[in-house]
Amino acid sequence: MFDVVIIGAGPVGLAAGIEAQRKDLDALIIEKGALCNSFLGYPTRMEFFSTPERLEIGGYPFSTRDYKPIREEALDYYRRVAVAEDLNLNLYEAVTGLRGRDGNFTVETEKDTYEARKVVVATGFYDIPNRMDVPGEDLDKVRHYYKEPFPYALTDLAIIGGGNSAAKAALACYRHDANVTMIVRSEEIDDGVKYWIKPDVENRIEEGSIEAYFNTTVDAIEDDSLHLDTPEGPAQIENDFVLALTGYKPNYDLLDRLGIAIRDDEARTPVHDEEGETFETNRDGVYLAGTICGGCDTSRWFIENGRFHAEKIVNHMIARLDAEPVTA
Ligand SMILES: Cc1cc2nc3c(=O)[nH]c(=O)nc-3n(C[C@H](O)[C@H](O)[C@H](O)COP(=O)(O)OP(=O)(O)OC[C@H]3O[C@@H](n4cnc5c(N)ncnc54)[C@H](O)[C@@H]3O)c2cc1C
Repeated sequence: MFDVVIIGAGPVGLAAGIEAQRKDLDALIIEKGALCNSFLGYPTRMEFFSTPERLEIGGYPFSTRDYKPIREEALDYYRRVAVAEDLNLNLYEAVTGLRGRDGNFTVETEKDTYEARKVVVATGFYDIPNRMDVPGEDLDKVRHYYKEPFPYALTDLAIIGGGNSAAKAALACYRHDANVTMIVRSEEIDDGVKYWIKPDVENRIEEGSIEAYFNTTVDAIEDDSLHLDTPEGPAQIENDFVLALTGYKPNYDLLDRLGIAIRDDEARTPVHDEEGETFETNRDGVYLAGTICGGCDTSRWFIENGRFHAEKIVNHMIARLDAEPVTA
């Protein structure tokens, strides 16, 4: 029996693994994909908003070539930390369910089952895109993840969304000779877009280099066009590719299978003790860590602040483990 099984090997799951091991807990991290799997979906050579010291875990210094780390440096850093700490990792094994109770859980995966006294859920939010639910959304030309501008050079590209990802993708693709049209549901580029990106994209829109429809939604996607609902009425534009950068949400189906209740608030927050900072959910002995804590408010917890959940969770867990006998 493991003292703790941690679900997810993102930065926060790794931080929890380090914290548990350093406090002599027998920990297993189970990850459905690669190490730091979410980062694989980020744009190639993407620059993080955070400076490197704010992404560090386990006290390992993260030195980068430039002022801000890029995706590849972060992937390298977390891998080296995982190796240095000799973390116990099962990769490419999705957790599918959880039986039992506090002190005596059975974690079910697609391959096996594992006994654990405690469970930490650090599954992030990046696997399930927010769908527009319009006809044509499942066509091959529609993508919910942006990697790089090269596939879109000299094509008619629609970018749906007005946040950071949409703004960055629009600028990069425009600068690689795509004919970019942004389709934004609200009346302007999001206020949350970083201060060094917002004026750039707004100026490109103003000068007409990037076309933008505000207060506009997509009605339907066809092979060579898009149907829009604009304030001036329906419009149809020529289109080769759609990048639907409309955000992502946690896997609520998995949370349900893990027995974690969801609050009836706007963010659909998974129930956990945030006030007492134990991060324990409604299911005793099961904790949440990292971005998943915010539910659909995916910008509330990120690496910078989510990495600190690990110590609080492990301290709470240890206090409880010390008090309870192992049940077989
Ligand atoms: C484009 C972009 C840029 C960002 N830049 C920054 C930044 O500059 N600074 C910052 O602090 N944050 C940034 N963030 C946010 C940050 O990346 C996330 O908040 C961070 O990854 C959270 O870490 P996590 O460990 O909670 O979740 P994740 O990194 O998402 O890790 C969750 C892991 O759980 C795994 N998993 C999911 N379901 C299962 C299952 N059923 N079984 C097993 N494993 C499972 C996933 O495969 C994944 O590896 C950025 C996010 C994006 C999208």
